[in-house]
Amino acid sequence: MPEDRPHDGDDFQLVTRTGDLERTQYGIPLAVLAELTHRCPLQCPYCSNPLELEAASGELTTAEWLHVIDELAEIGVLQIHFSGGEPTVRKDLVALVARATEVGLYSNLITSAVMLTRDKLAALADAGLNHVQISFQGAEPVVADRVGGFRNGHAKKLAAARWTRELDLPLTINAVMHRQNLHQLPDIIDMAVALDADRLEVANVQYYGWALKNRQALMPTVAQLEQTTRLVTAAQQRLNAVLVIDYVIPDYYASRPKQCMGGWGRQFFNISPAGKVLPCHAAETITGLSFESVRDHSLDWIWNHSAAFNRYRGTDWMPEPCLSCAHKEEDFGGCRCQAFALTGDAGNTDPACALSPMHGRIFALAETESGADRNAFLYRNFSGGLPETD
Ligand code: SF4
Ligand code: SF4
Repeated sequence: MPEDRPHDGDDFQLVTRTGDLERTQYGIPLAVLAELTHRCPLQCPYCSNPLELEAASGELTTAEWLHVIDELAEIGVLQIHFSGGEPTVRKDLVALVARATEVGLYSNLITSAVMLTRDKLAALADAGLNHVQISFQGAEPVVADRVGGFRNGHAKKLAAARWTRELDLPLTINAVMHRQNLHQLPDIIDMAVALDADRLEVANVQYYGWALKNRQALMPTVAQLEQTTRLVTAAQQRLNAVLVIDYVIPDYYASRPKQCMGGWGRQFFNISPAGKVLPCHAAETITGLSFESVRDHSLDWIWNHSAAFNRYRGTDWMPEPCLSCAHKEEDFGGCRCQAFALTGDAGNTDPACALSPMHGRIFALAETESGADRNAFLYRNFSGGLPETD
């Protein structure tokens, strides 16, 4: 479930190996987002999956995923995040989790949870699943089921979250926030506490893919965002010993870019349902780069030698103002996908940075769009999107 980033991509925690030497000049690939499928019963208008979704017939087979999992362990990956689409639509999920456990990978299930049953979750726990992350679209069914485009989804998520804790699995709640549900954040925080979650990700939508298409309907106002920041800061202090709250603001309102994916090709990669290996889940939005497949090359070769992974690694590729900036080893110039989406060139400084010549423009654009009276969504689906009707 890519809300997280999400499924918004930047939506999970890295475990680091202290004292471990870097095995390559680029670093160790610590974690992989395994997008098992693009199939999903929900239709979130901010889904981070590409606009052209992969059909089931193109997905890697069970044997291919099992081989990939073995390779992950061989190259030193520590964590596998099973995602999608909705990973539980794959009938082989328990077998894949079991193989991840067998080869020593920490496994996380990133799910919308609407297809989980208690038995299915128990089978995953028995197979060694280490963690569950469930996305919520709101604090109650009216808003949540409308945003996800799925009736009774909210109630199913609540049940799955309770089973998760009954089975003694750690739980993260991923709340993807935007103009049309930010007013429910206080109740979402209370819900996370009541569900005994370990972590709550307050993930404001980032605008790639489907979210870019729905930007006018999703962009929060400056006032909303300031209020949210105050609310989250107070909740972080109040719930210090109870709930970890992560908070990501929309890049359009930031003054420094985020260290996207920990830097291009430094710690993380993504495997698409068809086996393409990507430096981040949105990388296929960058036209002009071609991405290698696990069907044609080993993961070791792709990580170390593929042109796409090497294109924006390190700092040598950077333009000014990044090249002579004191922060270039901290944020690596921000997000390549966002630079491409907003400037047409993935090699530009991320416009989220106040030093980018484009920054003023995207801030003004966000302010304008946040005041738009377009609230209807274009729902994500396999045929290019479904306009919301009354
Ligand atoms: S439609 Fe929603 S639940 Fe499904 S994969 Fe996309 S963001 Fe996740
Ligand atoms: S100029 Fe580049 S390196 Fe410096 S803060 Fe902005 S994005 Fe980061």
